[in-house]
Amino acid sequence: MKDRLYDDNLYQFHKPQASYWEATADDIKVSAPALSGDETCDVAVIGGGYTGLSAAYHLARNHKVDVRVLEAGHFGWGASGRNGGFCCIGGVGVHRRDLIRMVGVDRARQYYQSQIDAVELVCRIGEEESLDFRAQGSAELEVAHTKKAFERLREDFDVSSRHLNLPVELLSAEQFRERHFDSDEQFGALVSRPAFGLHPLRYCRGFANAALRHGAVLHERSEVLDWSKGDDGWHRINTAGGSLRARKVIFSTNGFMPERLKPEFYARTMPIISAIIVTSPLTEQQKAAYNWVTGETAANSRRVLNYFRLLPDNRFLFGGRGHSSGHPDGEQETYARLESMLKSIWPKWADLAVDYNWHGLICMTGSMCPSIGQLDGDKSVSFAYGYHGNGVNTATWAGKKLADWIGSGQVPDMPDIVQGMAKKFPLASLRLKYFRLAIGLASWMDRRG
Ligand SMILES: Cc1cc2nc3c(=O)[nH]c(=O)nc-3n(C[C@H](O)[C@H](O)[C@H](O)COP(=O)(O)OP(=O)(O)OC[C@H]3O[C@@H](n4cnc5c(N)ncnc54)[C@H](O)[C@@H]3O)c2cc1C
Repeated sequence: MKDRLYDDNLYQFHKPQASYWEATADDIKVSAPALSGDETCDVAVIGGGYTGLSAAYHLARNHKVDVRVLEAGHFGWGASGRNGGFCCIGGVGVHRRDLIRMVGVDRARQYYQSQIDAVELVCRIGEEESLDFRAQGSAELEVAHTKKAFERLREDFDVSSRHLNLPVELLSAEQFRERHFDSDEQFGALVSRPAFGLHPLRYCRGFANAALRHGAVLHERSEVLDWSKGDDGWHRINTAGGSLRARKVIFSTNGFMPERLKPEFYARTMPIISAIIVTSPLTEQQKAAYNWVTGETAANSRRVLNYFRLLPDNRFLFGGRGHSSGHPDGEQETYARLESMLKSIWPKWADLAVDYNWHGLICMTGSMCPSIGQLDGDKSVSFAYGYHGNGVNTATWAGKKLADWIGSGQVPDMPDIVQGMAKKFPLASLRLKYFRLAIGLASWMDRRG
């Protein structure tokens, strides 16, 4: 039986993605030898992305806990080393107005306050640890791709400012063109703060080094193949090269979760492929063709959205939905689709070459909210996952919450909508099938405006 949902192509832990980020972070090395022999620690962390690293960093720094992180690839192999670098408010799988409908105004407000805290936490860690993650901009732009979409953004603006206390601005198409950029489908935008762009892999590697400095032990090339708990209360975790005994375990593998490693985690997630292309640098003339004067992170208002940003070296990053099987043929189709989409939105950039392309897994849950907690039947196992494509801030924040929980023994202050294990997806083996149906429907609605 397969341990994970997609084609094996998605889980080549020995192989880094050929991303722009990998090509521009080589100066930051992480010393993390593979696990070997028999070792013991208080807390073992499985998965070395932002969630696992933040948990290890805060456990070691704030609570002086003896913690080790086991990462199957290198640090930053997963989504934390290959995302768009948007550090912004999000983390749920629904619009702000729909979250209010689902959980009520007070709980939604509490959730969005935690999202602001999470963006601020990334800034604070960056400053305190002198991380060179190339922060850029101070807002996130959601650009209406049709007139009808602008009306929906107006609703989001009302909800965000009146009910959620979020600092938002609504810009007309003219105001937006003047302050940010233009395109063939620009009908005004919603501007949200706090937000900024960063280099995700530089953040991840810098974070790993900060965790090391505070005493955490890191192991790369250490895929956990087997995990059990003995009657003596010790967890036993095996990799190909060694074994680790631990009193407590943090499971932080998010979209790459080996969901049969522990039965409690089976069918709790819906991983989805997101893909990115990065172009050759834009010339000043190409930028001027659309009055591109912004360094902010941006997305369009499609239901199956695209996210994009002009990088500090003038290359253009453009991302969106990936393929639905993860097979290498589908991967190439995805990159071609993204390129043609980019060039249909900005046709004057038809000559731009695509220099990098890659993909990875984001993670959704049935509740459309992140899932953070400890197993009901075994409080020595903690977990956090399901950030709905918005984990730069959310995973960092969730990792800290787990560390505080373990370090203090007290449940930390968290919005109730993120607490506990996400419910199981029904008909779990058909997850990819119903996801395809949902995407088909959303794309059809996008075509209608
Ligand atoms: C293409 C793309 C674009 C995105 N863009 C953004 C964005 O702009 N902004 C944003 O906020 N979020 C974005 N995201 C989402 C964000 O990257 C994730 O939410 C976040 O990185 C999750 O962090 P994590 O530590 O929980 O998981 P990951 O970073 O995925 O780390 C999980 C780790 O677990 C490891 N692992 C798996 N199985 C095992 C095992 N058996 N043993 C040991 N280790 C194991 C994997 O190797 C992996 O490194 C994007 C994601 C993708 C894929």
